[in-house]
Amino acid sequence: MCGIVGAVAQRDVAEILVEGLRRLEYRGYDSAGVAVLNNGELSRTRRVGKVQELSSALDEQPLVGGTGIAHTRWATHGEPSERNAHPHESEGNIAVVHNGIIENHNKLREMLKGLGYRFASDTDTEVICHLVHHELKSHDSLLAAVQATVKQLEGAYGTVVIDRTDSERMIVARSGSPLVIGYGLGENFVASDQLALLPVTRSFAFLEEGDVAEVTRREVNIFDVDGNTVEREVKESEVTHDAGDKGEYRHYMLKEIYEQPTAIAHTLEGRIAAGKVLDSAFGENAAEFLKDIKHVQIIACGTSYHAGMAARYWLEDWAGVSCNVEIASEFRYRKSHLFPNSLLVTISQSGETADTLAAMRLAKEMGYKATLTICNAPGSSLVRESDMAYMMKAGAEIGVASTKAFTVQLAGLLMLTTAIGRHNGMSAEMEAEITQSLQSMPAKVEQALSLDDAIAELAEDFADKHHALFLGRGDQYPIAMEGALKLKEISYIHAEAYASGELKHGPLALIDADMPVIVVAPNNELLEKLKSNVEEVRARGGLMYVFADKDAEFESDDTMKVIPVPHCDEFMAPLIYTIPLQLLSYHVALIKGTDVDQPRNLAKSVTVE
Ligand code: GLU
Repeated sequence: MCGIVGAVAQRDVAEILVEGLRRLEYRGYDSAGVAVLNNGELSRTRRVGKVQELSSALDEQPLVGGTGIAHTRWATHGEPSERNAHPHESEGNIAVVHNGIIENHNKLREMLKGLGYRFASDTDTEVICHLVHHELKSHDSLLAAVQATVKQLEGAYGTVVIDRTDSERMIVARSGSPLVIGYGLGENFVASDQLALLPVTRSFAFLEEGDVAEVTRREVNIFDVDGNTVEREVKESEVTHDAGDKGEYRHYMLKEIYEQPTAIAHTLEGRIAAGKVLDSAFGENAAEFLKDIKHVQIIACGTSYHAGMAARYWLEDWAGVSCNVEIASEFRYRKSHLFPNSLLVTISQSGETADTLAAMRLAKEMGYKATLTICNAPGSSLVRESDMAYMMKAGAEIGVASTKAFTVQLAGLLMLTTAIGRHNGMSAEMEAEITQSLQSMPAKVEQALSLDDAIAELAEDFADKHHALFLGRGDQYPIAMEGALKLKEISYIHAEAYASGELKHGPLALIDADMPVIVVAPNNELLEKLKSNVEEVRARGGLMYVFADKDAEFESDDTMKVIPVPHCDEFMAPLIYTIPLQLLSYHVALIKGTDVDQPRNLAKSVTVE
């Protein structure tokens, strides 16, 4: 789930490994560790807390050796502690790092205990290293022992194994958790994300499901799930070297909020011509797939789910097709009805979100007409396995709380709305209006960012609050949901979002002076209805913060602070109103002193169920 880095080189690798872990810190983790091999010796250092703790420990007592593995852990089995931190060892010979979950670990643990193995941790991971150790007794190579081991594992893993008696190689295996091989000159690497390896190489090959690879200084041999030798294309990375730097910003999250105009401009590049969205934005054969679509099923989790929720309003209002949106972990475990000519759309920043991936695979079995993923990670599982892919091109997003990925997803979904709509009655004029709106988004987002100072001031009001309510109507309702999620994630204030028409069906009971109410006001036919909802709150003594167009004619007074949002058309409004809500949660978190980029208990790329 979190980070893996490994290296086989002639030079000492501990520093490279720790730098790699640093570049993966954005994923959120609770402990870190490294193990290296040197002339028949296996040494390891592990620490609870930040990679910096590990790095300081290594400054005091350096680890020397050219082959090594390192890990940041996001605990799933066993509390965060030094004894549960990876790498894990078996009999002082085998060391293993693992991302993911071994579901049959209890059974394997009992079996291994029966064979005399003693367990030093509470993790599921430890079964892997004892199993490899055990299999080595009946296999003549580490590769063969790992291949025999992974056959017995159920669940998800990205794992790297080294052997004290053979410092020439590491064995890497992937099933359900991403791993990428990095090719250097006379040295080779592995990591769970190419970002970790950018300081040492730019040539990468993504392992596929079931692959096992033997990595030495000079060679990388990859075997598929049946043990056949396979080639995986080695590509030069397009990710920029400094993607892992904060630059002038105090936090990655703030940097990424400010990168939105550029990220949106990138996502539009080469995808709109003569007032039309090009089908090729969705992949090579998209025109063929999209023309017959009559129903869209969107599957996503977290922030991506909110983007999907907004798109539902657009697809049904403007594109003339029916649309359902569902959380991936629900969809995958229930029976759902398949409508004729259905398109399955998955939305995932990382392309490795375990539940979303499983839902997509299920949909393929069910016979969906086509699958499309909206994704920010080229080469990821969702991109490889979907019929079509809209590559977001948002650039690396490091902050755990998603910001620019969300607005870029919205832009991509708006494009999809036109690409489907034109086959279902959307007029050329409307498509031209939408594309014009898309093209003016970067400048409009820039204007919305100028609210930063005013919002920083407003955030003071929230410092002593424990709860907040977000309200919206129509396609601003998912924006209210996203606003509430952001506030929860990074400031730990309990926040909920309601469609404002629901207010009187329950949440109104919560309104008092301690419950700030944040309203995102649409500037459309729902505005008058929302105004009545605002009055309902006012009558109960609630304190309101209303984000509204100045033409909406809200006036600030004792019970209501109005924050004027730049005037924008209805197509871009949800995206534009997202910006002040992102800034609000950022500034509240700053005041509360929380860990903005790595909020407690959360991970960036959720590759476990
Ligand atoms: N399930 C393993 C553990 O709890 C690995 C967690 C991870 O992916 O970091 O140690």
